[in-house]
Amino acid sequence: MARYRKRPLTIEATQWWPGTKIPGVEMVRDAAPAGGFEGDPYPIVQTLEGPMLVSPGDYIITGVAGEQYPCKPDIFEKTYIPVSMYVCEKCGKEFYAEVDEDDAEEYEPYGFADYSVLCDDCYWECIDPILDDSDDWDDDWEDVPSEDYE
Ligand SMILES: [Zn+2]
Repeated sequence: MARYRKRPLTIEATQWWPGTKIPGVEMVRDAAPAGGFEGDPYPIVQTLEGPMLVSPGDYIITGVAGEQYPCKPDIFEKTYIPVSMYVCEKCGKEFYAEVDEDDAEEYEPYGFADYSVLCDDCYWECIDPILDDSDDWDDDWEDVPSEDYE
């Protein structure tokens, strides 16, 4: 069977707890959900597959097309990592990059040459000519005594 990996799409998510107001999550009491008590209001979110029950601690995900769905916290934490928005200094495009949580204040993605923040495209635009010029890269590499890298 062929194998696939998910593209790194950026989503928005908020964890739902009783009393929390999250756009898309509504309290309903018209019918008891499985395991619920009739008459108690319970939270639901409208997904592409219809209304889904939300449990305390679930993340409410808003996907790239605005679709919403709940996700259990353990699955969420295995699947998603936090990102921050950056603005590319070269082309002005907004983009998202992973936050280095140990050093969040210091983190700057794709800094190169005159720019301290570059998007992926601009980064490769800047660095490709330099890589193309280094035809003898391998030779240079072999000239370096290996003990320098210990
Ligand atoms: Zn850019």
